[in-house]
Amino acid sequence: MFMTDTIPAATPSTAPRIALIAHDHKKDTIVELAREYLTFLQGCTLCATGTTGGRLQDQLGLTVQRMLSGPLGGDLQIGAKLAQGEIDLVVFLRDPMTPQPHEPDINALVRACDVHDVPCATNLSTARLVLARLSEER
Ligand code: PGA
Repeated sequence: MFMTDTIPAATPSTAPRIALIAHDHKKDTIVELAREYLTFLQGCTLCATGTTGGRLQDQLGLTVQRMLSGPLGGDLQIGAKLAQGEIDLVVFLRDPMTPQPHEPDINALVRACDVHDVPCATNLSTARLVLARLSEER
């Protein structure tokens, strides 16, 4: 017999796991973006490359798992987490006007997003669209 009190609780929706990365010329932008979505991001599980994460912690008080700095392997660390199913969204504000010494790492991370079908916002407008949508759902 079906008893309502035995219905298992709905699977609790877990906090989105978001990786945040910004190249140097985009760091002010990612801080302002995070400020815009601060309440939502405070409820998320965040990781970031080293310098970006430091800015988000220091300027906004966000709790962020800081990986290595991007040029020292931080993008690859985030790519590894993503490949293991531990990241739901990457916000990666890239600087298209400045060559980066770790371009192969950047490409590897963006490729990993495509391989694993994880949303990857590489510019401010896309990041806003995705964060607005996600924050509506919660
Ligand atoms: P950073 O790394 O946050 O440590 O500066 C970002 C990057 O350049 O990939």
